[in-house]
Parts: sequence; structure tokens; C-alpha cells
Amino acid sequence: MDPQQRSGDDLEHTLKAIEASYTANLPTRLDDIEYALQRYIEDLGNDDHCNSLLIKLHELAGSAGTFGYPRLGLHAAELEKLLSAYLKATAPSGKDFAPVASAVRDLLQWARTDPKGDDTVCDIAATAPHTPVAESENVANRLIYLVHDNLLIATDIAAQFTHFGYEVRVIAELGQLQACIDQRVPAAVVMDLGFPAGILGGAAEIARIRAASRHRFAVIFLSTRSNFEARLVTVRAGADGYFSKPLDMVALIDRLDRLIERDEERAYRVLVVDDEVETADFYAAVLRGAGMEVRLLHQVSDMLRVMGEYRPELVLMDVYMPDCNGVDLARIIRQDTMYLDVPIVFLSSEGNLDNHLDAIASGADDFLTKPIQPLHLVSALTSRAKRYRELRGLIMRDSLTGLFNHSAIKEHLVREMSIMRRMNKPLSLVMLDIDHFKRVNDTYGHPIGDQVIRALSRLLQQRLRRSDIIGRYGGEEFAVIMPHTPIDAAVTVMDEIRESFCNIRHHAEHQDFTAAFSAGSVELAADLDADDLFRLADAALYQAKGGGRNRVVKG
Ligand code: GH3
Ligand code: MG
Ligand code: MG
Repeated sequence: MDPQQRSGDDLEHTLKAIEASYTANLPTRLDDIEYALQRYIEDLGNDDHCNSLLIKLHELAGSAGTFGYPRLGLHAAELEKLLSAYLKATAPSGKDFAPVASAVRDLLQWARTDPKGDDTVCDIAATAPHTPVAESENVANRLIYLVHDNLLIATDIAAQFTHFGYEVRVIAELGQLQACIDQRVPAAVVMDLGFPAGILGGAAEIARIRAASRHRFAVIFLSTRSNFEARLVTVRAGADGYFSKPLDMVALIDRLDRLIERDEERAYRVLVVDDEVETADFYAAVLRGAGMEVRLLHQVSDMLRVMGEYRPELVLMDVYMPDCNGVDLARIIRQDTMYLDVPIVFLSSEGNLDNHLDAIASGADDFLTKPIQPLHLVSALTSRAKRYRELRGLIMRDSLTGLFNHSAIKEHLVREMSIMRRMNKPLSLVMLDIDHFKRVNDTYGHPIGDQVIRALSRLLQQRLRRSDIIGRYGGEEFAVIMPHTPIDAAVTVMDEIRESFCNIRHHAEHQDFTAAFSAGSVELAADLDADDLFRLADAALYQAKGGGRNRVVKG
């Protein structure tokens, strides 16, 4: 089955299950309301009992609409208002509970017999977004068809691609390309135009295959000619790139990466804070269905720890919770300068304007009212999380490589160490430094040096796991945090990357050269803090330099 279909079905299934569970628990909720009502009637004047009834009605008002009982939700909200007014009234004459009690009993009665009513039926599953996580065919596809009639040169180019994590198949004859594509669709076709058929032949074949194929793949042409006419022909054939020889491999890989654009973007991390388990589950399912990553928090006392470890890119919070209200919680979050700009969105059945204003004053970014349509929820959150990520990206990322910068990588290490310690899992830290980099700059110029830095950063991004965190620590120095990784595994991986890196050909004006790096690796141990770990990794790196460079040393 295609993954999109499966993911849509999963969401629908989850939503149905949650709705069914809500329906199953509805009688208990109604019993609870009746119980609270009874307690208050027996002890009129005891505001605690009255408040407890108010809370129950508030919860029903907030949840019923969401789970397919809009009429019930609206009535509960009206009763909540009525009861609030009763509670606030000071004059004894204004305090007549009888009408409120009778309204509550009315609601209980029809809710028990026909909770959906027949006026509006809202099928949650039908309104939920069925846009699943984008899982296009090419996400994990790293296959490149290299169409080249000179096997020797082709093998050499293929080896360079392989260093960057691509899978390459060399196709020696233009005529075989179609059959290969039919067999397996590549992420890209890289075609040399030196065929006997000439530029026109290769470009025409690509244009023909592309027009006939419903699959999308990138196309890059390689040619010895760099004239306008040749470029024009390839552009007309739908080329995504044109590289003239001698080839600048790093620039070529750079282009391929951009074109193929693996699904690098990680899902937005959303923290849902709601004491009501079912409501929270529902929103989590909706957001997950839209491709977001969701963590639920029911216990507000865990708030700061979870913020630190999970680093949400958005907090979706209920306003009313028994332990601590959302407005206070938002203030607590904002007290930490690290979270000054994390978007906080309130979700509540609260219709009261004063509360909205309170919430906004506490530093919330938005106030959404329950019940909310899943699609509306998703779009409201996506735009905020996106903007936050973009802003964070500017602050946390290094502009040359796009990797985390010095302060960001330090922040990450502190956080990962705390998580791995708590889970009792290993963590390794690796520091890398390009060897004799000054010579590269002196010989080929600063811009070429920059290119080498970018090549190493790209290689690290491609070869390491998604969970590994890569930063540019300083000029030509990098730091890699590898959670869940014991030191031996870290050293093995890093040594493979080292091997690849020293085989990459960098291109300077009509001259190719290679570079290498040294690395030092350490593993997290008891009693070490983040600074200790950096210091020890640096010491291991220093040993690697002293031992002759182009090596990885275990600290
Ligand atoms: P070693 O093998 O001992 O590491 O020698 P090295 O030459 O790499 O080390 P050194 O620290 O002496 O020189 C690093 C050079 O890197 C000096 C600096 O000008 C250069 N550098 C730092 N940042 C950048 C950058 O962003 N771009 C370029 N092109 N060069 C940089
Ligand atoms: Mg250095
Ligand atoms: Mg160096």
C-alpha cells in the first residue's frame, strides 16, 4: 500500500479510537457532574463544591464539541457561564441556585438519552486533515545514474559521489538509460555529453524520457563545452544543472544535494500541555497526522525539565488546569531567557475576553478557542512553528555551512548529556580539525578554503545519523555530538568519514587537491560536565595532530 494512504488511514483510525473512548467515558463524566451537583446542593454555600461543579462543566464544554458532541458542548458552555455568574453574585438575593440546578439536571437528562442530538452532527474523522507526512518516493533515494562512455573517468566520478553517500550506477550506453529508469527510478541522472551522438543526442534522449515518465528525477549535464549554444540545448531539454570540465566535484555534489533535497526538514516539535488526557490525545493525533512530532505533558511540574530536553518549537497549552493555570505557566516559561521566543498558543473553551487579554499579556502568541477544526489548528500552529524555526535558524546556525554554531552546539551538548544520563545511555563527543588548513588558504586562496570547509560539513551531514548533532566549533574545527553511541562506534564511523574525506578531490583553478582532518573522540562518563567533555575531546584531537594527523584518536 502506498505510504500516504497508510498514514491517512492511521490517522483516521486513531481519531475514531479516541472518539470511541470519549463516547465510552461520557456517562462517567455526566455522573461526575451529577455527583458534584449533589454535593453542592447538600452543602449550599460551600464554594469548593460549586467550583468543582464549575470545573466539570468547563471540561465538558471544552471537550464535547471536539469529540463529536457540538450541541452538548454549547449547552455545557452556557451552563458554565450561568454558574460563574451565580458564583460571582454577592447579594444574597442574587444567589438562587434552584434555576441553575434545574438547568444542569435538564442537560444531564437529555445528554444521557441522546447526547448527539439531531441538530448538528460533526464527524471528526471526516474533518481531520488527511495530509500525511510527506513521504515522497525520493526521500531515501540516493541513486544516481551516471551516463558516461568513458568507463575510466566514470568510475572515478562515481567514487567521488560514493564518498558523499550516493549510490551510483554507471551506464555506458545512452540507449540503456530508459531500461534502467524503468527498472528503478533514480534521484538524478548525471549525463556526460561527450557521446558520439553529441550534445543534441543526449539532450534529446533526456527530453524524450522525461516527457514520457511520470517520475521526477533531476538531470545534470557534464560537458567540455561551456558555450551558450550547448547550455541552451540542455536547458531546453529540462536540465537542472550544467557543469563544464574540469569538474568541480564539490560544487556538483552541492547542486545534487539541493536538487534532491532529501527530507532534511525535521518535523516541527510541539509540546501539548493539557491535564485532560483525552483532549490532549486528540490534538496530538491531529498534529501527528499533519506530520508534526508531539510530546504530551499532563503534569505541569515537569514543564521546565521537558522544555529543556524536548526543546519544543511550539507549546500548545490549555488555559485552565487544576494545578496551575496556563497563564502562570506561560509566565514561568518566559522567565527563562532561552524560551523568550518559543511560540505559546493557548487552546481553551474560554470565551471570556478578559482571559484572552491575560493570556496575551503573559506572553502567549495566540489564543484559539475550542472546539477548533483540526485543519484550522494545524495551519495556525504550522505557520508559527515555521517562523520560529526560521528565526532560531538565523541565531543558531553558522552561515557558511548551515551547521550549528559554537554556542548552539554547547547548548545541545548540555541537553543531550542530561537526557543520556537519565536514560543511562552512552554519548560520544568528537572534535575534528582540518589538517594544515592554513596551507590550503595560502596556496589556493580563502574562497577555496571555504569550499573545503563546506565539503566537510556536507560529508558529515550525509554520513552521520539524524540524531547526531553537528556544529562548526570554530574556523576549520567541528564538533559532533553522538547520542546513544559508545566511543568505539563513534571512532569507527568517524574513521570511515575521515577515509572518505581524504579521498575527495577539491577543485582550485585548473588544479585538484585533497585535504584531511584529525579527530579526537571521548565518551560521557560520570562527573564530567560539558566543558570537561570538550576539553578531553580537544586533548584527544591534539594527540591526533601530534601523532601525524589524518587520524582519529580515542580519548
Ligand atoms: P593543523 O593541522 O595543526 O590544524 O594546522 P592548520 O593550518 O589547520 O591550523 P591553524 O590553526 O594554524 O590554521 C587554521 C587556519 O584556518 C587559519 C585561519 O585563517 C583559517 N580559517 C579559519 N576560519 C576560516 C574560514 O572560515 N575560511 C577559511 N578559508 N579559512 C579559515
Ligand atoms: Mg584549528
Ligand atoms: Mg587545522
